[in-house]
Amino acid sequence: MIVGVHPLAGFDKVLHYRVPESMQASVAVGTLVRMPIVNTLKLGVVGEIGAPKDFPVERLKSIAQVVYPFPALPPDLLELARWMARYYACGLDSIIETMIPSAVRRGAGLKQEKQLVLARRMTDEELAIVEKRAPQQGKLYHFLVQQFKPQPKVLVLDRLAITAGVAAALVKRGIVREESLRIERIAYGDDHAAGELVAAQPHAANPEQQAAVDELGARLAENKFGVSLLHGITGSGKTEVYLRAIDLALKSGGGVVFLVPEVALTPQTVARLRSRLEAIAQGQRCVVWHSHLSEGERLDGWLALATGEARVVVGARSAVFAPVQNLRLVVVDEEHEPAYKQDETPRYHGRDVAVMRAKIAGAVCLLGSATPSLESFTNVESGKYRLLQLTQRVDSRKLPYIDIVDLRIEAAKQRNLPSLSGKLVRAMHDRLERREQTILFINRRGYSSSMLCKQCGHVEECVHCSIALTYHRTDETLRCHLCGDQRPAPVRCPKCGTPEIRWRGLGTQRVEEAVKRVLPRARVERMDTDTMSKKNRFREVLAQFRAGKIDVLVGTQMIGKGLDFPNVTLVGLVDADISMHVPDFRANERTFQLLVQVAGRAGRGDRAGEVIVQTFTPQAEAIQFSRHADYAGFAAAELKVRKEFRYPPYRHLIQHLFRGKNPEKLKFFTEQWARLVEKTLGERVELRGPSPSPIEKIKDEYRWQVWYFTASITKIVPDLMKLRAEFAWPDDITQVLDVDPVNLA
Ligand code: ADP
Ligand code: ZN
Repeated sequence: MIVGVHPLAGFDKVLHYRVPESMQASVAVGTLVRMPIVNTLKLGVVGEIGAPKDFPVERLKSIAQVVYPFPALPPDLLELARWMARYYACGLDSIIETMIPSAVRRGAGLKQEKQLVLARRMTDEELAIVEKRAPQQGKLYHFLVQQFKPQPKVLVLDRLAITAGVAAALVKRGIVREESLRIERIAYGDDHAAGELVAAQPHAANPEQQAAVDELGARLAENKFGVSLLHGITGSGKTEVYLRAIDLALKSGGGVVFLVPEVALTPQTVARLRSRLEAIAQGQRCVVWHSHLSEGERLDGWLALATGEARVVVGARSAVFAPVQNLRLVVVDEEHEPAYKQDETPRYHGRDVAVMRAKIAGAVCLLGSATPSLESFTNVESGKYRLLQLTQRVDSRKLPYIDIVDLRIEAAKQRNLPSLSGKLVRAMHDRLERREQTILFINRRGYSSSMLCKQCGHVEECVHCSIALTYHRTDETLRCHLCGDQRPAPVRCPKCGTPEIRWRGLGTQRVEEAVKRVLPRARVERMDTDTMSKKNRFREVLAQFRAGKIDVLVGTQMIGKGLDFPNVTLVGLVDADISMHVPDFRANERTFQLLVQVAGRAGRGDRAGEVIVQTFTPQAEAIQFSRHADYAGFAAAELKVRKEFRYPPYRHLIQHLFRGKNPEKLKFFTEQWARLVEKTLGERVELRGPSPSPIEKIKDEYRWQVWYFTASITKIVPDLMKLRAEFAWPDDITQVLDVDPVNLA
């Protein structure tokens, strides 16, 4: 038996090997194996059985080990990987590495899996001796003390770089116990506040929900690929529709992938979904998948799916690659979310890959949103996707009233425009009196966006990047939000020396400070990536907020998605203009989505909600259409513009980014390249640029870009890849191809 293997060794090739007799029964397409390359053993995935005709097989080496006795990459995932390599213009190896989590690649196999767990604590004297005589044992001991669950032995040894002998020594002394049982490790187990768990009672579906479920049932019964877009306004009960569709898929014996944005995976939502899904799956496990899992948890969940022990996974973007068997349904909640796009290689879009995975598996794909991406919306218009609609909020609750504060008028009234208008302050005050809660959104962290000298007009910029530094008042620093560089905030203008410094633009810190000033009795918390750097802080603050221990929550849009707070009756958008004025053709779409989603946070309980939006451009379409959550109106207006400029969704866009330390050289090569592309690809592509990126320099590297517009990605990517491989790039220029980019600023 000969097999062609894709090595996971940083190069994109197929190598051929013999399979020894003893291993042949457990080798198939997709099996993870170890095989010799030069003088070491490397991991690889079997891509094909057999070798091309006339292949010189005599001198082939043999596979050394079969890591799992079942395919780590089932055929549908391997096919998906091949499609992704072609579509996203990247190496198959990088995709396979993304698909198979590192814990799995390390090959802590099913049978070998031993776990280490602390049996008892050492006394201080004992510990002192161990640390002195056997520091490695000390290291292992300290590691296990910090874990409250058994840890896979291979992974522990690997991570701490110690030998099995070290563990054996501690086992002998009765300090560590070795267990070979597989222990269930489910994310967010009993360690989280039980008070937070909300019983997940199924609701009686309302007529619109029932119609959507019936339609999905019919699609599932057909047993073939199709995409449905569930457009349901905020609070219309989309989740109930997903859960019922999942129920149908599981009952028919199929498997399910359920994708949600990472931030929505709070312990509360996870607990709720899990208990519902496990009830649906009749006691079978629901695997949870997100970036905070430990290696052990990840491996455990992966194994459960790959062996068919579990049939449903709920998770963030990368859960689209979970080895679910007999896939029947793929659900993508909040499908418009830019977070579904990975911003490093492979730069895939989780939603689009979900659609493709469903297509390959012949499964049903369900996309849901209150504000569908214009890409998905046009797919409905062209008949590619079916539309399902939920037009009513459950219990006919009203959509909140949206009030616009025109900052131009406010600015005319008072010289020093406060960050919170009188109207917003009064509304917050009312909530405090009534013991209701407020969320204030401001999409910029830090105190202010820039430091401006009143005398000479100097704006302090990062020396490594071409952007203004942000002032952080909590520690009196100026920080670069791109490279992280920071320095003490100056008290005088660094250029002319006058002490007349002004801080321009709002950030979360400044808004927090303003709230504390106008509402001294309110309990205020700030939530942005600065305060949330500690792992569980995000969940803690949300739990406190839910428990009513916080009156006003100030934060970036990380608060927004998929969270349900019944007692929040006021939402303020402190500066709606921030997201509208970024150099990105999707800026309006993002702003509309932000406003509608944010408004959906208010008044989810029994009380009506109110939304106050502060802006200098109240007439903007994104703002006007959001007032009545008029999606159709907004889509029609925005699509007209997109059509005129032939922007996506009317054509595809590929962004080619070039980086280098020498700006002249960078410009020269980028221009040479662009000319070559234009000449070679001709009509199939329309170039925009080359031009400097909106941010010309990051971390001392200059950035240029070329945009390619095309009707078909797959018709130009192979040629682009070929040209790129042949082009004489200098070593100090790096470049990235981003297919269907979502972040252009
Ligand atoms: P969406 O995602 O569409 O914004 P959710 O799925 O979060 O809305 O549902 C909003 C709220 O309505 C949730 O608290 C949910 O439990 C509740 N809900 C859903 N369906 C029903 C129903 N048929 N009857 C009563 N309440 C429902
Ligand atoms: Zn910088």
